[in-house]
Amino acid sequence: MADDDRKTTEKPRPLQVVSPARMEAMGEAVEHYGRFIDRAEEYLATKRALTVADAREYRLGVVELKYRCTEDHDCGNIPTGQVDEDGEPITRSHGKYLYDKGAAPNLYNVNAFLVESDTIVLTEGEFDALAVEVHTGLPAVGYPGTSTWRSSPWWKRCFDGYATVFVAADGDKPGADAAKYISRDLPNAVVVSMPEGHDATSYIIEHGPEAMLAKFGFNYDA
Ligand SMILES: [Zn+2]
Repeated sequence: MADDDRKTTEKPRPLQVVSPARMEAMGEAVEHYGRFIDRAEEYLATKRALTVADAREYRLGVVELKYRCTEDHDCGNIPTGQVDEDGEPITRSHGKYLYDKGAAPNLYNVNAFLVESDTIVLTEGEFDALAVEVHTGLPAVGYPGTSTWRSSPWWKRCFDGYATVFVAADGDKPGADAAKYISRDLPNAVVVSMPEGHDATSYIIEHGPEAMLAKFGFNYDA
């Protein structure tokens, strides 16, 4: 596979076209790892508020081998070739998640956009989107981390036309900050803040789906 030039970080990025071979490989991986999903039953139930059946529906899988960076470097101490004012080499590190070269982060569970609904939920994190969608029945998409919204200014277009976009904000400072700048981008945003220390999933686990729906303004006589 040719290693093309990926140095540019100009925005907007060109449309990423996934080759048919890549699609097929990803499909095979999903199918393969999906076979082991029942091994995650307890984790799904206690941490994610999901059943194995939910996980199958959303095509989650269990990968038991540990992936690691295969570059020949110390991941926390990568030379940049530059030196600081004292002549010391400047190093950088990279995050836990690695993407294919040139790949940008994506919104998760974009099937939610195909659901006929005037309301959609936006969560921080993939699993939160699933927990919200499964338990409230509202379509929900997740963005992968607070910095990604800002680095992907075209995402806001996906939310045009909805009457309401519930932005489920994590109950911490980064969550509140993210909700603030997302709501600047989305005139139809309604920020729904989780209590201190909670995200959407932990809120559903602790208080139940009706409480989450009540937070979104739906009344329940349960
Ligand atoms: Zn590395």
